[in-house]
Amino acid sequence: MYDCIVVGAGIAGAVAARKLAEEKNKKVLILERRSHIGGNCYDMKDDYGILIHEYGPHIFHTGMQDVQEYLSRFTEWHAFGHEVVAKVGDKLIPVPFNLNTLHMVYEKEKADRLEQKLKETYGEGSRVPIMKLRENEDPDIQEIAQYVYENVFLRYTMKQWGQTPEEISPEVTGRVPVLVSYDNRYFQDTYQGVPLHGFTPMFEKMLDHENIEVRLETDCKEVLSFKGDQIFFEGTEFDGDVIYTGAIDELFECRFGRLPYRSLDFHFEHYDQDSYQGHSVVNYTVSEEYTRITEFKYLTGQKDTEGTTIVKEYPFAYSGAKGEIPYYAILNEENQNLYERYKDLTKGMKKFHLLGRLAEYKYYNIDAMTKKAFELADAI
Ligand code: FAD
Ligand code: UDP
Repeated sequence: MYDCIVVGAGIAGAVAARKLAEEKNKKVLILERRSHIGGNCYDMKDDYGILIHEYGPHIFHTGMQDVQEYLSRFTEWHAFGHEVVAKVGDKLIPVPFNLNTLHMVYEKEKADRLEQKLKETYGEGSRVPIMKLRENEDPDIQEIAQYVYENVFLRYTMKQWGQTPEEISPEVTGRVPVLVSYDNRYFQDTYQGVPLHGFTPMFEKMLDHENIEVRLETDCKEVLSFKGDQIFFEGTEFDGDVIYTGAIDELFECRFGRLPYRSLDFHFEHYDQDSYQGHSVVNYTVSEEYTRITEFKYLTGQKDTEGTTIVKEYPFAYSGAKGEIPYYAILNEENQNLYERYKDLTKGMKKFHLLGRLAEYKYYNIDAMTKKAFELADAI
């Protein structure tokens, strides 16, 4: 009845399913254990009519034209250059730390001198990861690096990961480099914004295809089983392709132990006032237990409601308990080795494919995930 089964209706599963259904004329069944499509990109109206992102703020950003064009088939965009500020003492400073930030933090003469030094050392427009900046022994650069380390990275990273910036993969802090420019945007990609009517309608349109069937509230384990290298669907051997976008350890009952993840508790609050913080995202880099506050109306551009809804993010170590969601893979050698042991168990299954943030145990953005789904669908 089906040529392919896709586990998970997040961006990875949805893009792969659409490509296979449309371009390869495959009959695709999507199994999704949540009661909705969209995975972590899912958004919805709250009780006050405000469009919120249930699993944390998502902004689409990419430099890949093919990805932008593909998703644009399913949505128009509310395009904007996403900006973030950090609350440091009584100031709100632009993040990533850039030349505007430099001039807010230091008095003019010193800021001018430091700006010159940064430009001479790294070149105008460059992006310098904080851990690289810290390696520079020049006293001026050291001073900037120390400021950025202490006021932007240390506390936030401790909250987010339970570890210092030295202890986590440099790839992670490298996502938010020091910018030797006056660009206040959080991302430097050409295309950025959110779907004009929300992510969920974009997914609805993508999955609205005669060759795609979606079963919600269905854990794949209810209908899929594995014996040796064979896959069974509802008790019968299935020889089509299976794309799995869930956590790989769960598939094998965590037999080698759980893969570690960071999770988040989202606390939503509604205020009967026009504005709460006047910014879409404020990072709390030196105080508070939460990492950041998102005020949705500034992210989505929604103007047709009174009042405002915000969300605070409280990170914690994922334990696998019911109701917890694994959000962030913790990238290090030990965890990668554990991941590889699980992956090895799928080696003999020629038509079983691991795709996604969870299944690949990687830190993908929406655009990279979309691209990866293109590649897999093409290969199939
Ligand atoms: P998911 O979205 O997690 O989808 C996987 C789906 O599989 C889920 O719906 C899950 O329920 C389902 N599933 C799992 N196991 C099973 C099972 N056994 N049976 C059935 N279904 C199952 N990226 C950006 O580009 N911009 C951003 O601003 C951004 N912000 C983010 C903020 C946060 C807080 C987080 C955590 C991530 C953010 N990302 C952002 C990353 C983005 O969420 C991911 O790139 C994207 O969601 C990955 O898609 P996916 O399909 O791999 O995974
Ligand atoms: N980070 C930080 N302070 C900030 C912003 C980011 O310390 O104000 C660090 C932190 O370790 C975080 C990483 O940089 O996990 C990557 O940030 P990003 O905003 O890319 O994280 P995500 O959006 O994936 O949560």
